[in-house]
Amino acid sequence: MDRRLFLTSVAAMVATGLAACGRDDPAIDDAVADTRMFTAPQGLTKVALPHGTLYRLPGKTNHIALTVDDGTNAAVIEGYAKLCRDTGLRVTFFCNGVNRGWTEHAGLLRPLRDDNQIFLANHTWSHANLARLSSRKLADQVRRNETFLKKTYGTLGRPFMRPPYGYTNRRVAAQLADLGYPAVTMWLGSLGDSSNVKPARIVEHASEWMTAGRIVIGHANHAAVTKVYGELVEIIRSRALVPVHLGDVYAV
Ligand SMILES: [Zn+2]
Repeated sequence: MDRRLFLTSVAAMVATGLAACGRDDPAIDDAVADTRMFTAPQGLTKVALPHGTLYRLPGKTNHIALTVDDGTNAAVIEGYAKLCRDTGLRVTFFCNGVNRGWTEHAGLLRPLRDDNQIFLANHTWSHANLARLSSRKLADQVRRNETFLKKTYGTLGRPFMRPPYGYTNRRVAAQLADLGYPAVTMWLGSLGDSSNVKPARIVEHASEWMTAGRIVIGHANHAAVTKVYGELVEIIRSRALVPVHLGDVYAV
């Protein structure tokens, strides 16, 4: 497909939600499935989650795992939810339950989670620096977010924990393992959008880092990324990468 036409069609789908109409009609639902850019990965053999730290996906693979953190901007959460719904993109969300967008847009996200298209994982309740917390407060941050995820989405978010800011140490990792998170989930590539950057910069970062086997970090915090969803999809598609969430790859 012509690239401009393709990007326009992605933007139109996301903007109008057209692809999600008629969900109650099985015939239309089938037609919708056929038009989506990405489908669930086939023939995956899940690997055991290692103890330690995850930076990239296991083995030689054409998979890519986009991970989206925080959620301080509810409109960006909504945008990612619609992008996933309309394109079939698979994403791991590292949620801070304190951010209201995870509650406001549960109606969009919950069906995706129930279909196993997205994985909702733990990023602590309120984005605490775990390396500075007592054991009791660390457990509170983890458990309170689990309680939120369970109530809102029917999942605890285990076994994937990304410590805010990537701050961890031996004590934190050991306690997280005791709490049900044997592997600290880091990343090896970034959209560079933890601060408010121009959309074009995000595309540059994506172009550099969205390659086979990487776990890439992005954020649902600033609106800039919502302007370049089409470009992100096109980068993944043009490189023949297969988007996965972490629960697709690891036995959970
Ligand atoms: Zn974060």
